[in-house]
Amino acid sequence: MKKCRICNRKLMNYKSIQRGMGPVCEQKYLEKLYKEKQISVDDILQQKKGEN
Ligand SMILES: [Zn+2]
Repeated sequence: MKKCRICNRKLMNYKSIQRGMGPVCEQKYLEKLYKEKQISVDDILQQKKGEN
């Protein structure tokens, strides 16, 4: 059984298992990452929109 590498809970869905962390932890992890890189989630979303 795969576990979340952040909170150590069992991962139940495929996407979470693929990423090695649950959706809540993934969100927090990404927010932390964006903070460290001095960019916001909004910046990422806008960049993605620009690609389309
Ligand atoms: Zn977790």
